[in-house]
Amino acid sequence: RAKAEGRGRFCAFNSRMDRRMHDRRVLQQDLRHAIKRGELMLHYQPQAAVTGEIFGFEALLRWHHPTRGLITPDEFVPLAEESGQIVEIGRWVLNEAGREAASWPNRLKIAINISPIQFRQDSLVSDVHTMLLETGLSADRLELEVTEGVLVQDFARALQILRGLKALGVRIAMDDFGTGYSSLSYLQSFPFDTIKIDRSFTSKLVADSSADEIVRAVIGLGRGLNIPIVAEGVETEEQRAFLEDAQCQNLQGHLIGRAGPIAQYAGLTGAEDNPSLPQIDTDGFHV
Ligand code: C2E
Ligand code: MG
Ligand code: MG
Ligand code: MG
Repeated sequence: RAKAEGRGRFCAFNSRMDRRMHDRRVLQQDLRHAIKRGELMLHYQPQAAVTGEIFGFEALLRWHHPTRGLITPDEFVPLAEESGQIVEIGRWVLNEAGREAASWPNRLKIAINISPIQFRQDSLVSDVHTMLLETGLSADRLELEVTEGVLVQDFARALQILRGLKALGVRIAMDDFGTGYSSLSYLQSFPFDTIKIDRSFTSKLVADSSADEIVRAVIGLGRGLNIPIVAEGVETEEQRAFLEDAQCQNLQGHLIGRAGPIAQYAGLTGAEDNPSLPQIDTDGFHV
């Protein structure tokens, strides 16, 4: 009897696996049409100085699936990476977010995530360059977020790509810092402009003394290397106060603002307060 039960459980397990694999394949097929059907969209999450002033936004990809509703990137970016579709999707994100940010006041910057697969494309540097030219976004307002994953294989080539991007004048952030393998040597080999402390550390602040010490150490490291830090996933006032006390410069998280359609932040991104934009009179002529 025990044996029969075991077999039953095994079969149930097997069919669950089958269903999951089937689901993945179906999603991958649906994803092929997602761009041209306009199902992809970007949400934007504010990034703020510890003093509270919002200085930019991170673009975060969303998929409005026709039957499944809103799907988050953790569910479909890995599928898109597996199939290679992330290259086309990533290019769409770059152009869409760049165009959006070009309409904001100049003090606001845009952070865009780059998948390791997209990163390795020969076209990345020229794609970024073309986007800057076409949108008119100034390079220093663009920050590309990469993870340690981009440096893991073919380190020499990765460095070459990073240098090519830097030569355009864009900023490079190391995302999810602390979750990979040998972060410290990577920091030594390339001048990152920002380090983003992963949410898995921030979320344990105050409650877990080892998280406190790790976060303090990373902030100290950033100060020593002259690289500003963004703490990701800040949700509580206690976490914010800790980070301020530890002299962390920048924050991102639900406490500052959730990722949402850019219209949600129209008060900040509206062009009215941008003195450098050409003034347009009521007849539509530049004055
Ligand atoms: P990430 O780049 O580390 O982005 C931060 C993630 O943390 C976002 O999840 C954001 O919504 C979430 N988050 C921010 N603050 C808080 C908070 O206070 N509490 C909690 N619980 N979560 C918070 P999201 O949008 O689901 O994105 C997940 C990951 O998917 C991103 O992690 C990034 O690795 C990837 N991703 C998102 N957009 C893109 C994209 O356009 N291209 C690529 N290649 N990857 C993307
Ligand atoms: Mg990111
Ligand atoms: Mg991150
Ligand atoms: Mg992440």
